[in-house]
Amino acid sequence: MDRLVEIETFSAEEESVESTLRPDAWNQYIGQEQIKKNLSVFIQASKLREEALDHVLFYGPPGLGKTTLALIIANEMNANIKVTAAPMIEKSGDLAAILTNLEEGDILFIDEIHRLSPAVEEILYSSMEDFRIDIIIGSGPAAQTVKIDLPRFTLIGATTRAGMLSNPLRDRFGMSFRMQFYSPEELSKIIKQASIKLNREIISEASAEIAKRSRGTPRIALRLLRRVRDFAEVAKDVDINHSRTKYALDELGINSHGFDEMDIRLLNLLTSAKGRAMGLSTIAAALSEDEGTVEDVLEPYLIANGYLERTAKGRRATRATYEVLNIPIVNEVGSLF
Ligand code: ADP
Repeated sequence: MDRLVEIETFSAEEESVESTLRPDAWNQYIGQEQIKKNLSVFIQASKLREEALDHVLFYGPPGLGKTTLALIIANEMNANIKVTAAPMIEKSGDLAAILTNLEEGDILFIDEIHRLSPAVEEILYSSMEDFRIDIIIGSGPAAQTVKIDLPRFTLIGATTRAGMLSNPLRDRFGMSFRMQFYSPEELSKIIKQASIKLNREIISEASAEIAKRSRGTPRIALRLLRRVRDFAEVAKDVDINHSRTKYALDELGINSHGFDEMDIRLLNLLTSAKGRAMGLSTIAAALSEDEGTVEDVLEPYLIANGYLERTAKGRRATRATYEVLNIPIVNEVGSLF
């Protein structure tokens, strides 16, 4: 079964539903207030100067609205946007083709930008800084370097792993913003807004119930909303009510902290260490996940909510972990808190 609170992979069908639910203006983009405030100042300023916006980097866990923000920026700037992801840009020629097809003021959005190969990254540096690329044509002694001027464009990069960006690349972004997890109130608003677009309105208690179980992440909230709506439709409910929502979420195995099975396995594993810290590689091996997924997808939400601690020696359960799992804190562990 697919993990409902799995955030990283999502199907083409889901992508198309997501795009219909995607806000296209600031007033529909809920939360991330600081980012919105800053960005709208910078957008206004660059419009006044009639210049392309400086390059922007968004970082944070998947599903928090990075792509959506890029699309809103394009909308606000009245600019064309080309959306791509680093794994699709395999060779430096691929990037050169994209860049030379841009027009003045266009926006290029590169998702998972930490995954660019060094050769491609190299080309990106000069294009971001000098709006110029050097292409080598031919090989051996006959090779020639051709300089190509590019239009002034804006690069918007998104990454789940800011730590994996090389310094030269990071330094070339004029602005960088860290995405925050959403509060249940914000998620509740997002769910209500989407339910109207889905033509089946949701009552407040029900949207709050979904919000509480969505790991602070809009993508998960919207995914759960769609599943709950299925239950409501089959039962021929007029709107999405609280009892149906609770029933549906319980049936789907989503617990009231928004943890899914993988979170619970991770937390159980940490408590089994009896207060000692556990290394990332050990955790990844025990969960049969790769280290990147543990670090970028599983851990951030647990850390933000105080259920996991990163220490110099590794990851550790907290007092809250024991409480939420209903595991008694025995003396030897208790003395650690
Ligand atoms: P990311 O690029 O960070 O992985 P997306 O921008 O693709 O995330 O957002 C995932 C889904 O959540 C989209 O369908 C979008 O509609 C919705 N979403 C994200 N952030 C917000 C927000 N602040 N307000 C409303 N909907 C949002």
